[in-house]
Amino acid sequence: MINKIIAEEKIQQVRKLLEKKEKIVITCHVSPDGDAVGSSLGLYHFLDGLGKEVNVVVPDLLPKNLLFLKGTKEIVVYTRYPEFAEKLISEAELIFCLDFNALSRIDRLQKAVSLSEAKKVLIDHHLNPEEFCDIIISHPEVASTSELIFRLICRMGMFDRMPLYSAEAIYTGMMTDTGNFTYNSNTPEIYYIIAELVKLGINKDRIYAMVYNTNSVDKVRLNGYAVSEKMEIFPEHKAALISLTREELKRYDYHKGDSEGLVNVPLGIEGIRFSTFLREDKEYIKVSMRSKGSFPVNKVAAEHFNGGGHLNAAGGEFHGTMEEAQKLLRSILPLYDKYMVKDKD
Ligand code: 5GP
Ligand code: MN
Repeated sequence: MINKIIAEEKIQQVRKLLEKKEKIVITCHVSPDGDAVGSSLGLYHFLDGLGKEVNVVVPDLLPKNLLFLKGTKEIVVYTRYPEFAEKLISEAELIFCLDFNALSRIDRLQKAVSLSEAKKVLIDHHLNPEEFCDIIISHPEVASTSELIFRLICRMGMFDRMPLYSAEAIYTGMMTDTGNFTYNSNTPEIYYIIAELVKLGINKDRIYAMVYNTNSVDKVRLNGYAVSEKMEIFPEHKAALISLTREELKRYDYHKGDSEGLVNVPLGIEGIRFSTFLREDKEYIKVSMRSKGSFPVNKVAAEHFNGGGHLNAAGGEFHGTMEEAQKLLRSILPLYDKYMVKDKD
C-alpha cells in the first residue's frame, strides 16, 4: 500500500463533485510538457471511462513527441480553436487545473477560466499556489502532477477503473518530470506506482523511446551546435550559459520543443552546478535555469528574470536584447556564489 499524501477531506470533496458534475474541462499550463499533458490525459481517460462529458483544453500546441499518447487528437488547443475553447470552459460545471500554481501560467485561457462559474479543483506540485480554485491539492514534495492523479484515482477507490491509456499518460508525466527518474526520484513509492502501471499493461520502454528517441536531424544538429559553439563556462562560479538567437534557431529549422533538455547538458560537466539557457523568442528572451543540489535557481529567476519555479528548475523572461540578457546573467553570477555550498552530488 502507498501512504496517504492527499488529505482525506480533499479526496471526499473531489469524489462528491464527480458524483454531481457531468460537464468537465481539464486544463494545464502554457507550453505543456510531459507532466502537464500526462496528468491531463491521465485524468481525461479516467473520467471518460466514468461516462463524463470531458474535454482537455490547453493554451497552446503540444510538443510533437507527446502526440503518440492516446487522446492528444481530442485536445482543444486555444490558439487553434479559441471560440470553441472558451465555449467549453464557460459551459463547464467542473474545471480541473493541473500542473500550474498561478492563473498567469495558462496564458490566454486565464480570462475564460477566471470568469467561469464552474467549481475548480487545483492539482499541482509547484510551490505557493495562488487561491483561484475551490479545492486546492498542492504537493510540492511530490515529483509530478501525474503521480498526484494516480494517487487521487486510487484514493477514490477506483484503481480498478483506471484505463490503460490513463496509465500510459501518467507514466509519461512521472518519467518526464524526473528526467527519466534521474532527479526528484528517491521516493520509494514512485517505484511501487510504476510497478502498478506496468501491471496494468504499460510498455515503459516504448514510452521512453517515443518521448526521447524521436528527434529530427535538425534538432540533434541544433543541440550539437549550441553545446559546441554557444556554451560559456564560468568555472569560478560553477556556472554555464547557453544562448541561441532567432537567426540561429531559424538556421536549424527550429520547432517548439527542439531545445528541450539543452539546459541540462552543462550540469553533466563535473563541477558545474548552475546552468542557464537563453532562447530568443518573438517578444522576449525565454530564460530556463537548472541546478544541482541546493543552489536556488527559482531565486535567481525571480530576482532578475521576472520568473520563478522550483529550487532546481526555474524560468522566466527577459525583455531586451540577447547581449543585454547575457550581460545581466554574467554580472549577477558573483552574487550567488554564496549558495554554492558543498553538496555531495
Ligand atoms: P522550463 O525551463 O522547462 O521552461 O521551466 C522550468 C520550470 O520553471 C517550470 O516548471 C516552471 O515552474 C518554471 N517557469 C518557467 N518559466 C517560468 C516563468 O516565466 N515564470 C515562472 N513564474 N515560472 C516559470
Ligand atoms: Mn509538473
